[in-house]
Amino acid sequence: MIEIKSFIFSPFAENTYVLYDETKEAIIIDPGCHLAEERETLRHFIESNGLKVVKLLNTHCHIDHVFGNQFVKSTFEVPLLIHPKDLPTLKACQLAAELYQLKPFEPSEPDAWLAEGELIRFGLSTLEVIFVPGHAPGHVAFVSRPQKFTISGDVLFRESIGRTDFPGCNHQDLIESIQKKMFALDDDFRVYSGHGPTTTIGHEKRFNPFLN
Ligand SMILES: [Zn+2]
Repeated sequence: MIEIKSFIFSPFAENTYVLYDETKEAIIIDPGCHLAEERETLRHFIESNGLKVVKLLNTHCHIDHVFGNQFVKSTFEVPLLIHPKDLPTLKACQLAAELYQLKPFEPSEPDAWLAEGELIRFGLSTLEVIFVPGHAPGHVAFVSRPQKFTISGDVLFRESIGRTDFPGCNHQDLIESIQKKMFALDDDFRVYSGHGPTTTIGHEKRFNPFLN
């Protein structure tokens, strides 16, 4: 049984997720912890719950989702997995850090690639990777079919959708990713977004003003 713990980090109010199960093995998705206090909050949660972090995953590599990548990699000695099409997004973070004046920023390197349909294993648990480009060229979401949830980054928000006015974004791709991939999930799937509250697929099918 996967437990989901979320944190809201950085001036971007980004949702960072820790997923773990009864074996205490854990994965961290999109560590947006920028300040030292935020990193300490994350580390304290892991240590005080006796968790063993085994992987670091990014749904996509916009700066607010990767602030803590290098911290997590070196603190817990885990590999970073991203989709190869988001490597340019990860590389652009250095420049974004200068533009937003969000220094210091430690660059991070991926250790392995994610692919659609791949299964991510930790403890007794499995997540499936789905490819949902548009907000970023290599954006993925992680799906638990038995527990009916998705950790979906900045694709779909409660009654909103991801921005597509950044370099590398494509609005049509985003709409297709939502209509064909996200909305293929059952209505009662819970959606854990990169910003804001959780929602469900059914709620967004009915009430999302950007998709009707
Ligand atoms: Zn983003």
